[in-house]
Amino acid sequence: MNTSQTILRPAPVFDAQRIRADFPILKLEINGKPLVYLDNAASSQMPQQVIDRLVRYQTTQHANVNRAVHTLSEIATSEFEAARHKLQHFINAREEREVIFTSGTTDSINLVMHGYGRKFIGAGDEIILTTLEHHSNIVPWQMLAEEKGAKLRVVPVNDAGELLIDEYEKLFNERTRFVGVMHVSNALGTINPIRQMIAFAHARGVPVLIDGAQAAPHMQVDVQDLDCDFYAFSGHKLCGPTGIGILYGKAEQLERMQPFKGGGDMILSVTFEKTIYNTIPYKFEAGTPPIAAAIGLGAAVDYLSGIGMDAIAAHEHALLDYATVQMKQMPGVRIIGTARHKSAVLSFTVDGVHPHDVGTLLNQEGIAVRTGHHCAQPVMQRFRVPATSRASFAFYNTMAEVDALIAGIRTVQKVFA
Ligand code: PMP
Repeated sequence: MNTSQTILRPAPVFDAQRIRADFPILKLEINGKPLVYLDNAASSQMPQQVIDRLVRYQTTQHANVNRAVHTLSEIATSEFEAARHKLQHFINAREEREVIFTSGTTDSINLVMHGYGRKFIGAGDEIILTTLEHHSNIVPWQMLAEEKGAKLRVVPVNDAGELLIDEYEKLFNERTRFVGVMHVSNALGTINPIRQMIAFAHARGVPVLIDGAQAAPHMQVDVQDLDCDFYAFSGHKLCGPTGIGILYGKAEQLERMQPFKGGGDMILSVTFEKTIYNTIPYKFEAGTPPIAAAIGLGAAVDYLSGIGMDAIAAHEHALLDYATVQMKQMPGVRIIGTARHKSAVLSFTVDGVHPHDVGTLLNQEGIAVRTGHHCAQPVMQRFRVPATSRASFAFYNTMAEVDALIAGIRTVQKVFA
């Protein structure tokens, strides 16, 4: 069945063509075909506005922050702190000092593991994670569990890739000390019911870290409304630079924690006998921070907010629905991850074709998808697949690009027929 002809494209809710003009890289051709960039869950592209902001910083504002009284250092410091302010508002944090600049989600989670976990989690204590977690929200906790003699408990999922919330609730006992859960699954797209999970944990006095790497770029995040203790995400998935991300932490949690990295800027005074640590957020920002990247991330959240996170979410949902309906009708194509609440991630397998071959053949058509285990091997084990191909959408993708993907998969099937 030629589904792309039988399924009507929904009317656009959003002027993606106008938006695309902001992204120089989207004009590229790959293998002689227009680039169809569907690897946004791995890293998204950068609009000219963010590129210009980085150039302006490097050409007219750069110096090290926090240390000098000279004009450039003052400008760099105030622009860096202005970026923190933008990030505070982007996630509706109560206070600016609750936003710590890190190098990304992985770094943020490691900060919480070292700063909170190593101080407050001990032998026999339990940490609840989920089957869906990215390796970056598994391995640090496993390292802690090994070091301390603590135990990981894992929330299972159903065949659609939805967390079993009854099972989650049953995992709690008097030894539960911490919960780490992703907001949106990078491998399956499942949007987890984190608000409810956080409330349940808090009723038992247990703090919760949210890995928001796949949520912050795609939906409005309000950390006060969620009431999470920690929320982590990366700049490069959010139209910003690589090497930057944030950790949001409730001030009272950050105050209680020990520093993760020692060095300059995270201290108030140092003698060989004793060091007095700086106040938050600086206690967690040792050394010269990624100043340009933080300012670039500030420009990225300005850009996204200018479009509107609700409009972004609506457009991406329309893309996801359109792609899902078509893929469901393709014989030999299996969608992995069919949760009722999903974000713009579509993982799939094609019968008789290894995902790497799917990715390679799509690349010949100019279509960029990711293939592999998506740093979520427990998810692959749960669904008994070695790997999947994954198309992940951003607000600058179009319905025509979905059609190109579907046509590309048909070509793959023909090659392997
Ligand atoms: N968590 C999730 C859900 C992710 O998708 C990713 C990136 N694939 C990460 C964490 C790690 O992000 P980073 O590599 O930017 O630290």
